[in-house]
Amino acid sequence: MVEAPDVYCPKEKRKVPIWWCLGSYTQGRNPCPELLEATVKIAEDYAEVKCKAQKPKMNLWQRLILRLTDRLYIGHKTHEGWKGSLPHYIIECPVHGMVETYPHGYEGRLECPRCQEEENEKIDSRAED
Ligand SMILES: [Zn+2]
Repeated sequence: MVEAPDVYCPKEKRKVPIWWCLGSYTQGRNPCPELLEATVKIAEDYAEVKCKAQKPKMNLWQRLILRLTDRLYIGHKTHEGWKGSLPHYIIECPVHGMVETYPHGYEGRLECPRCQEEENEKIDSRAED
């Protein structure tokens, strides 16, 4: 039997088989709601995931920049459905801690994506009432 590659789960605080993230029909497990992106190469015993529970990794110097400027540039990235790429930053949210984000709207505001998600959920549930 082929063992599934392991990934570190920040919620469990330990390594877990990749199917913990992806969900598994045979194991009766639903996909993790925190999962954002997964790369799996079973043949190479390699897996990498991005999830909401992960904290961005930073060195001391980067922490200092974040503290001084309230943002830390981590590179341009593109997402599915985007025409180009946008600069991505780490910001510190008072509620969620370090979060990765990119400029929103015309003013290019940097907002915590998890706060926005929660805000959207509130609006959705209000609309249902
Ligand atoms: Zn937040």
